[in-house]
Amino acid sequence: MVKSVLFDLDETLLDRDTSIKQFITAQYDRLIAHLNHIPKSNYITRFIELDSHGYIWKDKVYQQLVSEFGIMGISWQELLEDYETQFQFHCVPFDFLKETLNWLKQQDYLLGIITNGLGHFQARAIDGLGIRDYFDVILISEVEQVRKPQLEIFRRATNRLGVAAQDSIFIGDHPEADIIGAKNAGMMAIWKRSPHWIEAKEADAVIDELNEIPSILQSKHS
Ligand SMILES: [Mg+2]
Repeated sequence: MVKSVLFDLDETLLDRDTSIKQFITAQYDRLIAHLNHIPKSNYITRFIELDSHGYIWKDKVYQQLVSEFGIMGISWQELLEDYETQFQFHCVPFDFLKETLNWLKQQDYLLGIITNGLGHFQARAIDGLGIRDYFDVILISEVEQVRKPQLEIFRRATNRLGVAAQDSIFIGDHPEADIIGAKNAGMMAIWKRSPHWIEAKEADAVIDELNEIPSILQSKHS
């Protein structure tokens, strides 16, 4: 019987592609005094390319932007700090986020997040979405010193919740980190389909929207 539901953050709860686009547009406008020699669309497009869907950390991205665009009067460190402190104000949830979390809470599921990333940054993104209070456990790889798909981070989450892995479901978009990781840990895994990946063969179920989760859970009880 399913007792706990655990989620990935980026591209599962947080619409990261949209959030990044909104953030970088706002950053250009905010720092226009240093960036007005660069066409706005070039700055946005190049940032998104270099970011590689979040798999390249922004110290590298901003060093590259400063050098390519000849940015003067503001350092890559200052641009990075702007990203670290301002991204949270541009966090966009996927549709049905809060109604799905409300439903899960009403059904008394224990809830968790397991995310790969930097501690403060991911914590701010969770606050940016306004969803911290829904979760019984939040594990961030930098804080835990272990990352998905390693078994240990999944095991720690279920241990802290006091539930067995086989009574837990994990939902994520990354075929290896999320789906293979959760399956190896003994959980059921739901793939949230993502345009960045072709398929996640090992998944037990596939969803496009978060509000498909209740019917999957209800089918587990029948
Ligand atoms: Mg993800």
